[in-house]
Amino acid sequence: GNLMGQKAALTPAWKAANKVVSYGRITSLSIQEQRRSLPIYKLRDQLVQAIRDNQILVVVGDTGSGKTTQMAQYLAEEGFLEKGRLGCTQPRKVAAVSVAKRVAEEVGCRLGAEVGYTIRFEDLTSPETKIKYMTDGMLLRELLVDPDCSRYSVIMLDEAHERTIATDVLFGLLKKACKRRPDLKLICTSATLDAAKFATYFWGCPIFTIPGRTFPVETLYTKEPEPDYLEASLITILQIHLMEPAGDILLFLTGQEEIDTACEVLYERVKALGPQVPELLILPVYAALPSEMQSRIFDPPPPGARKVVIATNIAETSITIDGIYYVIDPGFAKQNAYDPKLGMDSLVVTPISQAQARQRSGRAGRTGPGKCYRLYTEIAYRNEMLPNPIPEIQRTNLASTILTLKAMGINDLISFDFMDPPPAATMLTALEQLYALGALDDEGLLTRIGRKMADFPLDPPLSKMLIKSVDYGCSEEALTIVAMLQAGGQVYYRPKDKQAQADAKKAKFHQPEGDLLTLLAVYNGWKLSKFSNPWCFENFIQTRAMKTAQDVRKQLIGIMDRYKHDLVSCGTNFNRVRMAICSGFFRNAAKKDPTEGYKTLVEGTPVSIHPSSALFQRPPEWCVYYELVLTAKEYMHQVTLIEPKWLSEVAPTFFRVADQNKISKRKASEKIEPLFDRFAANKDDWRLSKQKRAT
Ligand code: ADP
Ligand code: MG
Repeated sequence: GNLMGQKAALTPAWKAANKVVSYGRITSLSIQEQRRSLPIYKLRDQLVQAIRDNQILVVVGDTGSGKTTQMAQYLAEEGFLEKGRLGCTQPRKVAAVSVAKRVAEEVGCRLGAEVGYTIRFEDLTSPETKIKYMTDGMLLRELLVDPDCSRYSVIMLDEAHERTIATDVLFGLLKKACKRRPDLKLICTSATLDAAKFATYFWGCPIFTIPGRTFPVETLYTKEPEPDYLEASLITILQIHLMEPAGDILLFLTGQEEIDTACEVLYERVKALGPQVPELLILPVYAALPSEMQSRIFDPPPPGARKVVIATNIAETSITIDGIYYVIDPGFAKQNAYDPKLGMDSLVVTPISQAQARQRSGRAGRTGPGKCYRLYTEIAYRNEMLPNPIPEIQRTNLASTILTLKAMGINDLISFDFMDPPPAATMLTALEQLYALGALDDEGLLTRIGRKMADFPLDPPLSKMLIKSVDYGCSEEALTIVAMLQAGGQVYYRPKDKQAQADAKKAKFHQPEGDLLTLLAVYNGWKLSKFSNPWCFENFIQTRAMKTAQDVRKQLIGIMDRYKHDLVSCGTNFNRVRMAICSGFFRNAAKKDPTEGYKTLVEGTPVSIHPSSALFQRPPEWCVYYELVLTAKEYMHQVTLIEPKWLSEVAPTFFRVADQNKISKRKASEKIEPLFDRFAANKDDWRLSKQKRAT
């Protein structure tokens, strides 16, 4: 279906699609019927008129009313996209992909033709693409080179209530773009009722409300706080399955590992109940799930069977699953939060807000009257949960965002038009990190290397590592390592029943220089096998992760080429690779400690090498880690052995060799101290005041 080429071709084609009934094409007919049954359909003309009459519009409507999938199509049908495309942002990449697929199907085109998506390291669009779903982070990157959004006629900031950093920054940037481009339409959608705040922010623009189609949901609380919410969830699922009338179940858990475990345990327990119990289809949903699996969650269960979907908070608003009558809400979600003790972001399981709890129960009332089982007490709901979640911009590391803003020429961050400004301390930390990385100079302005770093869709330490690797003559190797890290740490396959065998295979790849070099060895081994699947199988390596890494690597090479960074290999001179790693991750340096295992150099936090590390058996004196993960202990993951003297070489504003007079000669070259005095002395020197002066 070339449905959206030109207006002439467009309208009749759409009408034709609706007439397919006479040819008996059941699938596309029912899709069109489904479209017409959505709450938004009745308001189609009013909505289109409101968008015609206003440059900016806030649209509020319950999840599942059709905002994400329908609005873009209405605007295409009405000729809004003749001069430019529509970009619709999603906070999550899974949602961007899933929605694009669905809309391509509704439109009747190949994914990537009129309807496509762009997420980091994956671009499924073409010049003919008129409706483009994308992560908010990708639009932010596009604005870096095209601040006026000149290729777009309409921008839809979808799921704005999620308040991700990227969406929050887009608010400010698009507000400016709208001033410069009166023909640009901006639509901001939200599932919750903070719409008034959005409207006020956008110069008091109108709010368009789509009345929901919801049924009452009975909310049940536990009498006592539930010590083990996972166990309680599984018991509740079985109770519902055995005792309650037909209807599917949705359980909210916090992350992939927890979801996989829950699915496994549940499967075993249902099996143990014997064949007389009706079938229970168990479907996990999380970001890292392959997309074939993900589309299965939308299929209705076979007759007589019941479906249970176990999802992260992605199922709160971003995707809608029909047929859910029962929701189980343990009250937790994983949230990215900046941990000043570690000096980094980490994902922590935190209680959800009341607004999220209401949103979750609402999922049970879309098809009929439903029930929501809250695995916490009513008192906890009233007294312990915050009314609304804290916007991400106020709780996470801003280094990457600030680098992007600086690269756009926005130096005066203090007067940037944030809907909710980040705390000054968070901004200072980010500025300090960028300064230490050499991305900003002591005026707080972007350096040449900082500008180059902003070209990469990576966290600042990783882009620094890549750029420095060119100087160190090891960019081939650094690229591979960065690509492997983007594969999400899912490289090694370690099934429960073959752990020893898997570990033995992994040990063969171990490099004395550490885990990042080990990742390099794995990739090169795979490459030597001509990227073969059997090789992965034999070595307990996840093929899918390797394919991702290969893909990311290609994308990064594209960027390296575009900006004329040389691709050079260091052969086996791994010192260079370690120095490149060090130049990005010096902040994560740790030193062996006589009492605590290791201590981080910067914050003095006690940490340990993770048992899965290549260096676990031979712990080095000095190392840098890629990330810290808190489980039983604060564990360093992806550890690399370093020479201490490199620290002051790669980050001279951050570390210095300690005063020679105070320590013995032999130790002198090894003793490194962080230069905190410089930051601590007068906290409000260049980082804020010079911000202002710079503009
Ligand atoms: P909103 O953005 O208002 O939450 P959507 O436009 O995402 O609503 O969804 C509208 C309806 O489209 C959903 O209720 C669901 O029935 C259907 N839908 C959305 N995505 C898919 C999909 N991937 N597969 C099948 N149906 C879908
Ligand atoms: Mg939506």
